[in-house]
Amino acid sequence: FESLGQKLQDILDNMRKSGRLTEAQVKAAMREIRVALLEADVNFTVAKDFVARVSEKAVGQDVLGSLNAGQQVVKIVHDELIETLGGKAQQPVLKNDGNVWFMVGLQGAGKTTSTGKLAALYKSKGRRVLLVAADTQRPAAREQLKVLGAQVGVPVLEVNDHEPPQVTRQRLEEYLQKDFRDLVIVDTAGRLQIDEALMDALADLKGALNPSETLLVVDAMTGQEALNVAETFESRIGLSGLIITKMDGDARGGAALSAKSVTGKPIYFAGTSEKISGLEPFYPDRVAGRILG
Ligand code: GDP
Repeated sequence: FESLGQKLQDILDNMRKSGRLTEAQVKAAMREIRVALLEADVNFTVAKDFVARVSEKAVGQDVLGSLNAGQQVVKIVHDELIETLGGKAQQPVLKNDGNVWFMVGLQGAGKTTSTGKLAALYKSKGRRVLLVAADTQRPAAREQLKVLGAQVGVPVLEVNDHEPPQVTRQRLEEYLQKDFRDLVIVDTAGRLQIDEALMDALADLKGALNPSETLLVVDAMTGQEALNVAETFESRIGLSGLIITKMDGDARGGAALSAKSVTGKPIYFAGTSEKISGLEPFYPDRVAGRILG
């Protein structure tokens, strides 16, 4: 197995005559980069757009004294990947007078687990956290959150079967009057596939609760499908940020690039294990390196 960096270097070393990257050199390199992106499960359209942007930047650049042409193209690609993934690690901004975070995603993505992880993380930072188990159709999903809440040591407000959003809102307000909480994290219903009824119900609940953050939980292992999922949740529900789970698996991180590209929203966290402590800030530079292989 030859790494992408090595492949690019070979291509460019063979052709390098002048101190500038020529169009032919860049074109050959970009073919390799597109293949590498697709192998890392980046969505086809996202990969194409990415390569177009990088080509534009690379053609005609002077080759820097310390690098050869191959290294320079790899550097341009790496920098652009970091930029596309969000630049620096970012965290949601917390207001002092109350925050409601609305967690959305497909069933199995790791939404409930991530909700528990966030509760543990922010409790440790001194926040008064309340979890809301808001899957109005699956008592088992609510039960799972109650178990996590007990484990973390934060209260869980459970919605009732088929409870209307306005009732949930009212019950939440009543709860907060009795027991002040400055971070409310709402775990919502997920389905195995995107369906219209789910989207309508989520949009209604979001409207009633007026969250300060709406976070989509995306499974890194879903590869190509991540783009559709992110696009649909963004257009139907509206997102403010993303969480990529299962980064401890062998997924290369293409799902992160696709979801970020299509929504333009920051990736705040990466899930790195099944454990309650398995949540880290999302570091674009690390994932860029992993995508390049
Ligand atoms: P939900 O249906 O979206 O709420 O998904 P769950 O939170 O129930 O998670 C589904 C499965 O994925 C469970 O077995 C979790 O333990 C597992 N899981 C969630 N996040 C991660 C992660 O970051 N890494 C690993 N390895 N497993 C995870």
